[in-house]
Amino acid sequence: DTGGSTGETYIIGTDTTFAPFEFRDASGELVGIDMDLMRAIAEDQGFQVEFQSLGFNAALQALTANQVDGVIAGMSITEERQEIYDFSDPYFTGEITLARDEGNEEINGWDDLEGKTIAVKTGSLSEEVAKEKQEEIDFNITSLDQTTTMVQTVKTGNADALMDDLPIIAYGIQQGSGLEMIDEPEPAGEYGFAVNKDQNADLLEMFNAGLQNVQESGQYDEILDTYIGNED
Ligand code: GLN
Repeated sequence: DTGGSTGETYIIGTDTTFAPFEFRDASGELVGIDMDLMRAIAEDQGFQVEFQSLGFNAALQALTANQVDGVIAGMSITEERQEIYDFSDPYFTGEITLARDEGNEEINGWDDLEGKTIAVKTGSLSEEVAKEKQEEIDFNITSLDQTTTMVQTVKTGNADALMDDLPIIAYGIQQGSGLEMIDEPEPAGEYGFAVNKDQNADLLEMFNAGLQNVQESGQYDEILDTYIGNED
């Protein structure tokens, strides 16, 4: 996948299945809000991007090891992560929430998870939140690398709930995942594009400049509309 302009090529790590931010369409092409946004910014700023669909945790590790130049993966800007990565200006406001198998009225919130199992993504904010809740409520955590696997795990009854970013659960439900949301959503910070600490400052600067341009031009809203425009 390339940005379509001349100029330097940057390797960008991303998640595998985090629809509508990154996923493969029916023809196998990597699409989604993050992909389109990054391509639009690259075009605006005259650089090229090559995506590596690594998985969330693997992408973060690749960034730490300087195996990729940046990561865009619906990645929440957190203080902890800011110690090791430099983030762009925020481009989306995140929320995380619990979901259960449709019709499983046994699970209505954290307290109902006592003795049960929750699926989360390895290295995610949801995993962190689940670990905190585990100090009060005794449940098992199954950490998985892919959102699709998390959904399957709940659908097959190998987990009683999952926690993931709200737009991802909502999009999945719309696509027929067979889940339903429970509990009150919690804030999950703002999503940002990340580079390794003190590396690729030029790329970060171009991302911010390009983000502002595509926001001002209306291209950003068009991208959002493509994937989460008319939910009903
Ligand atoms: N926004 C969440 C986080 O940063 C999840 C990201 C993801 O699963 N790709 O932890």
